[in-house]
Amino acid sequence: MLEPLIRANIPRLQPLYHRAPSPLRNFLTGARGWFLARLRYAPETLAMLETFRSHESWSAGDIAAYQLSHLQEIVEHARATVPFCADYPRGPIRSLEDLRRFPILERETVRQGIDHLLSRKIPPNSRIRAGTTGTTGANLKVAYTEALARANWAILLRQWQWAGVAPLEKRITLFGAQIIPPARTAPPFWTRNAPERQILMSIFHLSKGAAPAYLGFLQSHRGIVLEGFPSVLAILADFILERGEPVPMRVVFTSGEPLYPDTRAKIAAAFATRVFDSYGMTEYCGSIQECERGGMHLIPEFGFLEILNNRDEPAAPGEEGHFVWTGFLNRAMPLIRYRIGDRGAWQADSPCPCGRAFPLVMPTITRESDTLRCPDGRIFSPRALNQLLKQSSSLRFCQFVHDRPERIIVRAVPGAGTPVEETAAIRDRLQALLGPAMHVVSEIATAPLARPGGKIPLIVDQVQG
Ligand SMILES: [Zn+2]
Repeated sequence: MLEPLIRANIPRLQPLYHRAPSPLRNFLTGARGWFLARLRYAPETLAMLETFRSHESWSAGDIAAYQLSHLQEIVEHARATVPFCADYPRGPIRSLEDLRRFPILERETVRQGIDHLLSRKIPPNSRIRAGTTGTTGANLKVAYTEALARANWAILLRQWQWAGVAPLEKRITLFGAQIIPPARTAPPFWTRNAPERQILMSIFHLSKGAAPAYLGFLQSHRGIVLEGFPSVLAILADFILERGEPVPMRVVFTSGEPLYPDTRAKIAAAFATRVFDSYGMTEYCGSIQECERGGMHLIPEFGFLEILNNRDEPAAPGEEGHFVWTGFLNRAMPLIRYRIGDRGAWQADSPCPCGRAFPLVMPTITRESDTLRCPDGRIFSPRALNQLLKQSSSLRFCQFVHDRPERIIVRAVPGAGTPVEETAAIRDRLQALLGPAMHVVSEIATAPLARPGGKIPLIVDQVQG
């Protein structure tokens, strides 16, 4: 399978890619897109989409039965093939009480290494590897399968259908791929992925100076689907609202970050359309998606969710607690009772007006961050800088402190491994991204900078704020 090979080689290919002229870059993006498109729009994926659509008429009882049988299946798979789970309790799972006999898997345990969490049944060359960072730089590595990638895409396509969007409709995407050389100051700040009818826009080139180009391009593609990180779309929305002329898009999909109510309102106003949010994670153990009536629905095919209070007991509806996920889809690295570090609450039982019985759950917005505003007008969202942390795994926290107009400190709190080297590597990547106009230094700290309430922002702006 070439997709994992390409992914594994992206760090090495990146400089080559950045030196390529724009048509060649389009071609390379398209080549990668062709593999993804093949996976995402395979007949199996579209058949799965049809099956998943038929689940929308399920009753609460149907959902419970489906979830119980998949819990049973994944727990057995984990116990039989994952060394870490070998001595998990035996016997069938007939109820939530049975599941509660299993230990809770903490994020820190996963962060310290995943070899003992991998299923021996899935051969290494069938595993797709990825890294994730949360938003505070505490990195972890994950592995998953192509079958999961397909199911994940089918579930995403189902939410598109909730928004009236068909598979392969044209879209503009603002996620984390570095698709344009960092030093570029003139358009294009975008590249085309023809097989998926997708335009990828860079999230690393947003600035007051580049705003007219970005807005002009969006304006010339108005009416199509827009998707991206909330903090990135918010930067574009600010430009649009300052100019005072909305850029109407068909619909906006957000994910990858919490969507604050004021950010949602701003994005909806700037693009004159509805926003459909979703909550997911690179560990691929669960999903929550917004429907056309604004309900945040637990996706029953993806995983089982427990919300536990501080005594590790099930939280009552409306009571905030820790998300503890058991994913159904990832057979390469099954996570059983995984406490991911996010919080939320079951919504008290009013059924959603959309008619689906998928339970309603509200993720709590616990992360917050400033944006990085450089003196030359460039603006970086927390998600843009977060991308720089993906290759490091030795740090418990990593923050970016903007302490003087032209200076950033990469401030790392070490864990095991080689934190000094990794911090230096992050500093070098940030310096390469920001160029000579900014001076990037690094320092090792013993604790992260926290705000009242314990929030740990990724970017700390000490210049404007
Ligand atoms: Zn609904």
